[in-house]
Amino acid sequence: MSKIKVMSEDLTNKIAAGEVVERIANVVKELVENSLDAGAKVIKVDLVGSGTSLIKITDDGAGMDELDAISAFQRHATSKIYKSDDLFFINTLGFRGEALPSIASVSKVTLLTSEGNIGTKIVIHGGKLITKTKGDARKGTMISVEDLFYNTPARLKYLKSEQTELANTASYIEKIALSYPEVSFYLSNNGNQIIKTSGTGNLLKTIHEIYGLDVSKNMLNIKSSDNDYDISGFISKPSILKSNRNFITTIVNGRVVRNAELNKVINDAYYTYKPDIKFPIVVLIIETDPTLIDVNIHPTKQDIKFSKMEELKNLVLSSIKNTIYNALLIPKVEVKTIENQNEIPIMMANNDFKVHEPSVIYNQGKTVSFKEEQRILNELLEPTDTQEQMDFKTSKNEEMKTLELYPCGLVMGTYIVAQNDEGMYLIDAHAAQERINYERILKAFSSKQIQTIDLLIPINMELSSSDYLKFNEHKNILLDMGFIIEEFGINTISIKTHPTWLITGYEEESIRRLIEMVIELPNDFDIIRFQDSVAATMACKVSIKGNTRITENQMESIINSLVLCDNPYNCPHGRPTIITFTKYELEKMFKRVMN
Ligand code: ADP
Ligand code: MG
Repeated sequence: MSKIKVMSEDLTNKIAAGEVVERIANVVKELVENSLDAGAKVIKVDLVGSGTSLIKITDDGAGMDELDAISAFQRHATSKIYKSDDLFFINTLGFRGEALPSIASVSKVTLLTSEGNIGTKIVIHGGKLITKTKGDARKGTMISVEDLFYNTPARLKYLKSEQTELANTASYIEKIALSYPEVSFYLSNNGNQIIKTSGTGNLLKTIHEIYGLDVSKNMLNIKSSDNDYDISGFISKPSILKSNRNFITTIVNGRVVRNAELNKVINDAYYTYKPDIKFPIVVLIIETDPTLIDVNIHPTKQDIKFSKMEELKNLVLSSIKNTIYNALLIPKVEVKTIENQNEIPIMMANNDFKVHEPSVIYNQGKTVSFKEEQRILNELLEPTDTQEQMDFKTSKNEEMKTLELYPCGLVMGTYIVAQNDEGMYLIDAHAAQERINYERILKAFSSKQIQTIDLLIPINMELSSSDYLKFNEHKNILLDMGFIIEEFGINTISIKTHPTWLITGYEEESIRRLIEMVIELPNDFDIIRFQDSVAATMACKVSIKGNTRITENQMESIINSLVLCDNPYNCPHGRPTIITFTKYELEKMFKRVMN
């Protein structure tokens, strides 16, 4: 007896449904992408019970005629691809003709669609056509999906909690809205609006509508290209960080993609500007020739492969790094007068380090008025930096090197007050020292000569067997830096000599930390990055902790060394080192000048 049977179409659809639409967010994604493919400019997603009871998508796209409305529910029926060659030039989002039949096989679907005149209404339950009627309808399509998985209880159980499903759906709509700023998106659950974008085509405005003013006013514009890739978009200043990677959106040729390597590069570009456990908010748009990418054609996986990955990584890395570097010049304190506040001036930093908080007693907890919010937004929507302005900013770093500052005193054991003819400066002594030591250590790494010191009493360290093995594998890194390390009994090493860049008074502690760093080395480590993180970690060891006395000589030496740094404005963790109050601003605060 023959064993092989052809599966019924109904069963094939149900199995495909398990792959294509296992989550509410997947269903929403398939339907929204159909609307986008149909050229919709307004897409409304209404959920009931986070989508478990009802998912309703309404669009103003091209719509379908009666015949297409029926064939849309047949397996592999698609208007989007005709030849196998087309697979290499996929421009639309959907292309397998699987979504509608899969969804319809496991739910109760109502489709109402029209190309502008006569509309068609189709009702399908569990893949079976129930009714088909004609009637008036405006151009566009409405699809409602009720009781998802009602006839596949095992799948129903597989859905996560309503909260999780809703969160995933919202996160998808956020990302798709960011990749289509020219389309207006709306998401509601049980009648409550969750997301609404206006579809003006302005990406920063969409970022504002999705992430709010705090984020949008702290975004920096990026733009650069090489022969194969054009990248653009917005990145958050290091002061606006999130505790997970969900706020990094990468869009390649109009498609939201996930690519771990790109996420890593984006995160690495913030290195020394932020703590490792925090992540930036980024909307990165990549445009390239479709032949250079390979989109995994499984519809729920948004992974993508690039032919010239290294090139793309370098482009992304340098563009983000440069943008952050140029943006983080000395935060300046601006004076703003707000009406109806008894003419009390409030200060707002034009940088986002909330530098104003500790010093401005009379601005505590004040929220920005709606009018003010609009004004800030309008300012934001103005074109961002021209090349000329960028050049100006870079030259400011050079200018800093000739800055002459005179210390006047120390406040709170932490902040050096300094002045010159142009104004007053506050320097965070600890952050400044970190920056100085960080650059000093990095310079030592790049210098050809290694200077070392022999320890009077060698430092012995006993390691666990596995750590000892890991250490031995990479110990050359330390030997190359000038350390002399010998074996000393079982699993024990003895450090005899170390390079001079270790911070005086903290040698033993630093060496122990270094050994740990070598043991913890990731497999894909690179020496430049490792040196960078050694410099940042060692520099942090140092420095004057808050509330210790600093002599006038020390203050002078900190100031003089700081201005000579390559990036004097931030400590290696991205906090500012120096804040300026120009003479004019001081006069304005004291109302010696009126405008
Ligand atoms: P695919 O998107 O892969 O083509 P689907 O099953 O998602 O497959 O959709 C089948 C077809 O139905 C599409 O190719 C398209 O022609 C039509 N269609 C689906 N949704 C819409 C819509 N919202 N507006 C217009 N046409 C649609
Ligand atoms: Mg589709």
